[in-house]
Amino acid sequence: MNERIFMSAPDVGELEEKYVLQALRSGWIAPLGPDVDRFEQEMAARIGRRCAVALSSGTAALHLALLAHGVGPGDVVLTSTMTFAATANAISYTGAEPFFVDCLPESGNMDPLLLKEALRSLAMAGERIGAIVPVDLLGKTVDYSGIADIAAEFGIPLIADAAESLGAFHKGQAAGSWGETAIFSFNGNKIMTTSGGGMLLTDDEEVASRVRYLATQARQPVVHYEHTEVGFNYRMSNLLAALGRAQLVRLDEMIMRRRDHRQFYKQLFDGVPGVSIFGGDTDSHDNFWLTSILVEPEAAGFTANELCTALTGQNIESRPLWKPMHLQPIYRQARKAENGTAERLFETGLTLPSGSSMSTKSRDLIGETIAMFLQNYEHARRF
Ligand SMILES: *Cc1c(COP(=O)(O)O)cnc(C)c1O
Repeated sequence: MNERIFMSAPDVGELEEKYVLQALRSGWIAPLGPDVDRFEQEMAARIGRRCAVALSSGTAALHLALLAHGVGPGDVVLTSTMTFAATANAISYTGAEPFFVDCLPESGNMDPLLLKEALRSLAMAGERIGAIVPVDLLGKTVDYSGIADIAAEFGIPLIADAAESLGAFHKGQAAGSWGETAIFSFNGNKIMTTSGGGMLLTDDEEVASRVRYLATQARQPVVHYEHTEVGFNYRMSNLLAALGRAQLVRLDEMIMRRRDHRQFYKQLFDGVPGVSIFGGDTDSHDNFWLTSILVEPEAAGFTANELCTALTGQNIESRPLWKPMHLQPIYRQARKAENGTAERLFETGLTLPSGSSMSTKSRDLIGETIAMFLQNYEHARRF
């Protein structure tokens, strides 16, 4: 059996080895150090933000972003239902209540009209709205210009969950530069990794320094350890920041490789009835983190799940799109503004291997497996 082909395996090599070894030999093993400072500066410069704070995960970054914007018990926070649980969980950590907003069919991103309706009825009922947290699904940004206008109209802070969209753009402006504050994730499966890590970006220096303070156990600036509130241990270690710096050098190259995979899948499924590349018509500003297809079973003659099973048979990983938060047992009671799109995407979507370290040989095997699968169904359709 061939080695397992993952959806998005880490892509690290000689440059990463060099940076991490340098950091190790420099003696900066204690969590903070010069690589953390430089990594923050380099990220802020790349995204076009005043401040960046390196943290232990994207989830930690979301948690502290919410706290720094004053979100807490009694607040409602509106977020995308089409997301990974981390977004909703971070809202729950603060004691606020997540409110899930459904999405647009072409991107799976938050539907601005639904958001506006939900805000209107919440505001009318006199509820306290803490923040809006839209998610850039699979590396394509939300319609930030639309959503930023809505947030401004209601006077609510916009916190962008850009965990998946580092390197993408909206209207010529980098993902992570939209909203009052934005976060990235450097988890092992993301477009760029520090094995585990995240970053918060903002132009608001007060927010940045509040986040730094909360992330280091809320220690007061005195020699002895003095604490006036509960803090967290959320900073990124210097060794991992060194890994991140090497990855950032290679980010554009890694995006190009993922873009190439998107092209490959576009050709592979070209003309196949009932199958489309998710978001494929408007992807020129994506970072191409993951490529997914949508399978309409009536037209295709097969389901996404059947293709998934065929791929699994060849030790190739694939997976449905995120299961919407409003369908998750833990959030089933949560309030929501629903239009059925997220559920439909969950039923028909399949995410395919898209990692930048995927070899030509692996991709050939994926191509052959899918071509064989399609041939069988083509045959079945005809006879
Ligand atoms: C990965 C991810 C996160 C969480 O990031 P971690 O670094 O794994 O904590 C948050 N939101 C979204 C949308 C993600 O995909």
